[in-house]
Amino acid sequence: MKSLRQLYKIGFGPSSSHTMGPATAAEQFKNDNPNCQYKVTLYGSLSATGKGHLTDEILRKVLGDVEIVFDNDTKVEHPVAMQFEAIKEGVVVQKRLCYSIGGGDILWHGEKAKEYAEVYPHNSFEEIKAYCEEKNIELWQYCIQFEGEDIVDYMLTVWQTMKSCIAEGLNAEGILPGGLEVVRRAKILSVPKVGESIQTMDNRNVASYAFAVSEQNACGNIVVTAPTCGSAGVMPASLNFAQTVHGYTDLEIAKALLTAGVIGNLVKQNASISGAKCGCQAEIGTACSMASGALSQLKGHTLSQIECSAEIALEHHLGLTCDPVNGLVQIPCIERNAVAAMRAINASTLGEILTASRKISLDTVIETMYQTGKDLDKSYRETALGGLAKHYK
Ligand code: SF4
Repeated sequence: MKSLRQLYKIGFGPSSSHTMGPATAAEQFKNDNPNCQYKVTLYGSLSATGKGHLTDEILRKVLGDVEIVFDNDTKVEHPVAMQFEAIKEGVVVQKRLCYSIGGGDILWHGEKAKEYAEVYPHNSFEEIKAYCEEKNIELWQYCIQFEGEDIVDYMLTVWQTMKSCIAEGLNAEGILPGGLEVVRRAKILSVPKVGESIQTMDNRNVASYAFAVSEQNACGNIVVTAPTCGSAGVMPASLNFAQTVHGYTDLEIAKALLTAGVIGNLVKQNASISGAKCGCQAEIGTACSMASGALSQLKGHTLSQIECSAEIALEHHLGLTCDPVNGLVQIPCIERNAVAAMRAINASTLGEILTASRKISLDTVIETMYQTGKDLDKSYRETALGGLAKHYK
């Protein structure tokens, strides 16, 4: 399995392929061609859904003076492609074609795809658990052993980014871009209700954090893929709630992020974290599983309890379809992040108690999710052709 740096990426939402990838390409192109005017031509999926995904806005943020062309006619060999041109005194000084190949990664035409090193030697939770038990180490120590101590610093940066995203999202108001006229609701949720119970208060707070991040994502702000942009609100919401209520230190949260990363990495390796491949179970289901495992780690649970919590969280998202209305990461995505964050807390509680009597392993439920995803009709895999996307009027 690859480094957790490839799982937790920091960049512009709302889509790793439509904003993070293009932003990276634009930064590289600008560094190679400073002090120019720029022209970017978007092809394929970037042309068809780039406006809704804010591709043009992100390119403007990075490049400043840029002409953007949406070209729906030219056929390019990759479905998510863009051409950059640098112009000086009216002359094109460089022209390069680039592909956004998923997960925020890019590939310049004519170059070889970057191969990320295999950092971890194990490919299943069963193997990892056996290794940790033999060495008498916890999951976060397992990560440090293979990634090096500086992975903790990276997790601290990830956590600070998540917290900033929550803080900014809680203070923001207005309508989300894209034309659906969805109102930002994080701030509304953050306000206590007269006479509310402790349980209602807790749920409302968790939901407000998830809304805050998801709304920031929908507006093209900086988020952390955990494991994707669309599901970026689940982990920060669960962990911020845990830190607020129980006072965990940032370092403890960073270690919990490592534990969650092992779970996310296993799904990425053995199934998929892409809504386009396996539906929303792969995005929100995985995020919930990661969050539940992280919470269990914070509570000091055993390896088996962490596994059980993560398994329960993923199991009860099996079959969840991806059906974003108008292709925007707003409906049902934002509320779904909040529901999953609350569910992660419950799954962690169940995992603590039910571990001894459980029948299903984390590896089994990951495999099941993958097969279920393959069986899902294409209209439920991020095509915006089925479900709410089809029936919303
Ligand atoms: S519905 Fe689709 S786009 Fe929305 S969070 Fe789920 S997988 Fe992502």
